[in-house]
Amino acid sequence: MKAGMSETRRCFCGGFARLETSWTRDNPGRRFWTCCRKKGCGYFDWFDPQMCARSKMIIHGLLNRINKVNDELKSSRMREKLLGFLIVIGVLVAVLSANATQHNGSSGTKTVLELA
Ligand SMILES: [Zn+2]
Repeated sequence: MKAGMSETRRCFCGGFARLETSWTRDNPGRRFWTCCRKKGCGYFDWFDPQMCARSKMIIHGLLNRINKVNDELKSSRMREKLLGFLIVIGVLVAVLSANATQHNGSSGTKTVLELA
């Protein structure tokens, strides 16, 4: 039988080993066989052959780019949140200062008039 996607393995538990993808620094995107259970017999075997240095470099470069774009998205979302927060604070300050002007009576009104 030829090795390929239809290949199956059995781990030491007797079940079918699961095919997972590694995202470690040395083996980014390289698939491996692991135990059929979450914490099982510790079965491990590579499915894909080892990557050449060039492939690793390209994958790392792509991952870095993706992370950078994610960070930019996150920071722009943060900016939106911050802007929303500032608008709420601004409205609160406006409402509070309007109330303060009303409740302060003549002296408050006088200050406002002087500033105007
Ligand atoms: Zn197992």
